[in-house]
Amino acid sequence: MTKHYEVIVVGAGSMGMAAGYYLAEKDVKTLMIDAFDPPHSKGSHSGDTRLIRHACGEGLDYVPLALRAQKLWNALQQQTSERIFLNTGVVTFGPKDSLFVQTAINGGREYSLNVETLAADEINARWPGITLPSDQIGCYEPEAGILFSENCIRTYKRLAIQKGAELKTNDPIMNIDIFDDSAKVSTNSETFTADKLIISSGAWNKKILDDIDLKVQIQPSRQTIAWFDSDDILYKSDGFPGFFADVPTGVYYGFPSIDGTGLKIGRYDNGDAIDPSYYNNEFGAYPKDKKDISEFLTKYMKQANGDINVGKTCMFTNTPDENFIIDTHPHHNHIAIAAGFSGHGYKFSSAVGEALCDLVTDGETKEDLSLFKITRPSLQPENKDKSFTKARGK
Ligand SMILES: Cc1cc2nc3c(=O)[nH]c(=O)nc-3n(C[C@H](O)[C@H](O)[C@H](O)COP(=O)(O)OP(=O)(O)OC[C@H]3O[C@@H](n4cnc5c(N)ncnc54)[C@H](O)[C@@H]3O)c2cc1C
Repeated sequence: MTKHYEVIVVGAGSMGMAAGYYLAEKDVKTLMIDAFDPPHSKGSHSGDTRLIRHACGEGLDYVPLALRAQKLWNALQQQTSERIFLNTGVVTFGPKDSLFVQTAINGGREYSLNVETLAADEINARWPGITLPSDQIGCYEPEAGILFSENCIRTYKRLAIQKGAELKTNDPIMNIDIFDDSAKVSTNSETFTADKLIISSGAWNKKILDDIDLKVQIQPSRQTIAWFDSDDILYKSDGFPGFFADVPTGVYYGFPSIDGTGLKIGRYDNGDAIDPSYYNNEFGAYPKDKKDISEFLTKYMKQANGDINVGKTCMFTNTPDENFIIDTHPHHNHIAIAAGFSGHGYKFSSAVGEALCDLVTDGETKEDLSLFKITRPSLQPENKDKSFTKARGK
């Protein structure tokens, strides 16, 4: 007999696993299904760490969601001995007219956050591992830091299962049928039904949404990250912060050396459009994998430009305006969708999981999600934006 659930979560990665946890906490009969066994290296959450900042350069509308997310990360940390959050602080820098840097500074002011505005020479003096030209400025958020993304997912998974959620792994969903007040989900091996669905399949959302006839513009891209052999005296996590750089050559983000792993850096704005099921996921497959990030280090963080200890690839899923999609289906409000996190979604995933849970259980959320509507014009295929150019940072 087909097993029935109150909620099925389609894709239990960053957003889906968090949603599963909050649903289980509310005693909702939940099944999470994933094509792999999260955390894993095939989606968008791998590579150990993610930055979390609160004075979001992406836009002031993101600040309340970031603050809610931080509260939930802190609460998660109380429930596990695994490392969830490391308070390293995050420094953001770029030319004086960088919209991202200015927005972060304004976000700090508007929301009375602890954000220091710093001139280039102040940044150079405080962190001798950074060399900024005098025409750049920055800001520093001492309360921001680093999330251990894979540990977070592992912890949500363990707690969700402990609280009664079920998780089916290594079984991709092949078909979804939506009815007026329920849905049927078929994997390679089984079929399940549910009153409500949460669709949170990361880079595969485009295909899943297409298959249920919901056409929106989202585009996965191939991204790279690498850990460089670096001078631990300058770049160790007990003295060096996470960083975000919106500089003339591109947009970059990085992490201090944690436990001797070396400084980790990625480029945010130069990923190639891909099909998530068929792309070259080997770091170093293209010359730009190393070139892009090494050039930045040569200019701004010389003593971190050693050999590459490890290089990896990962995927973003971009929307044309780089804002997320967190909404119910336009014609079926028992289907919630979390998609298009555009390379800056991880930090919010605790709060997004909570919001998805509230959407399918209460029909409303504590957080204002109006920026993330699936019906906004920029997402509609008739307004096709060819570029999907990354204009700003994480
Ligand atoms: C290199 C890199 C660095 C980043 N740095 C930051 C950062 O510093 N700060 C930040 O906030 N964000 C960052 N991000 C972005 C952030 O990691 C993503 O926005 C976030 O992980 C997206 O979560 P998701 O749930 O949409 O995708 P995922 O975590 O990939 O989850 C989707 C899940 O759906 C499953 N799935 C797919 N198809 C199916 C199917 N047919 N059936 C069943 N399951 C399916 C997948 O297996 C996967 O587990 C970064 C991303 C990358 C790649």
